[in-house]
Amino acid sequence: MPEDLNETLHFTKNWQQQLAEAFNDIEGLCHYLRLSVNDLPVSVAAAENFPLRVPLSFAASMQKGNPNDPLLRQVLPIKNELFAYPGFSNDPVGDLASTTQTGVLHKYHGRVLFINTGSCAINCRYCFRRNFPYADLQLSKQNENAGIQYIQDNPDISEVILSGGDPLLLSDTRLAKLVTQLNAIPHLKRIRIHTRLPIVLPARITDGLINTLTQSTKQMVIVVHCNHANEISPRVITAFKLLRNRGITLFNQSVLLKDVNDNVAVLCELSEQLFGQGIIPYYLHLLDKATGTGHFEVSETVAIDLIKQVQATLPGYLVPKLVTEQAGALSKQTIL
Ligand SMILES: *Cc1c(COP(=O)(O)O)cnc(C)c1O
Ligand code: SF4
Repeated sequence: MPEDLNETLHFTKNWQQQLAEAFNDIEGLCHYLRLSVNDLPVSVAAAENFPLRVPLSFAASMQKGNPNDPLLRQVLPIKNELFAYPGFSNDPVGDLASTTQTGVLHKYHGRVLFINTGSCAINCRYCFRRNFPYADLQLSKQNENAGIQYIQDNPDISEVILSGGDPLLLSDTRLAKLVTQLNAIPHLKRIRIHTRLPIVLPARITDGLINTLTQSTKQMVIVVHCNHANEISPRVITAFKLLRNRGITLFNQSVLLKDVNDNVAVLCELSEQLFGQGIIPYYLHLLDKATGTGHFEVSETVAIDLIKQVQATLPGYLVPKLVTEQAGALSKQTIL
């Protein structure tokens, strides 16, 4: 990001350019936020393990001069990432072990995750995929076709969940091809997309993208990933509107994160703001115990207490389901 960055100009650029100009170093991000690197527990070694990556669109929603900003905490590489926490490992939910060369992850009845890219527009420090050797998955065209074949050959599958990485980082052309291939499978009812791009790079939500997605004869569901109401900027609201106006059903999933959203008022405000934009709170995940993320953990006892208080405050449809993922289980496990 250049020193003399001009935000207004930046946001007139297309999504690929905005992505190319994302912050990729601690100094640059801190400078933009008017924070001194010396006053923060940053770690260059942590950034070498898993690089810093934040589009300006997301950074612009952080409060300048606030070292404890809940959005900053999600992306800043800090020393705690290097500490070993008991019970944390590289593949806590067994996904790596279960993902085939085709990118298809078939753990639950009737639905599969289909991974077509390992890249994301943002690197969330708490991500359970941060330690995955995506390069080894060899997400090639040929393997993608094998994945389609797998879905075709299994009539029990009624829903394909495009996941990643972030599937909306694929080009419109590649997405169009995928949608066409999935449309041709009669037993499929729905295509679901798990993406953080409407939140972190809302410029990705173009008319071209929406035309591509709504070409589908299948029902189209998008599950976004938003952890804090501060993430819902006017640009994000515009992206949500574009999707909703074209009949795409929107849900949200969040991760419960210490010092980000482990607070009743914050969780209630998030649900309110989301629903204000027509998005239904779906899941609140307990942290997956991936190496490097221990400092984000909220205990199950605290989580239950929090969600009970949210339940006592909001209508039932604004209370996300508190869930955890267990290796080998047949679905996400609801807590409470
Ligand atoms: C989370 C997940 C799903 C989707 O689960 P839902 O409860 O339908 O949202 C599907 N497959 C895998 C492997 C998952 O991890
Ligand atoms: S957007 Fe999702 S998959 Fe990508 S780094 Fe963040 S949490 Fe992980």
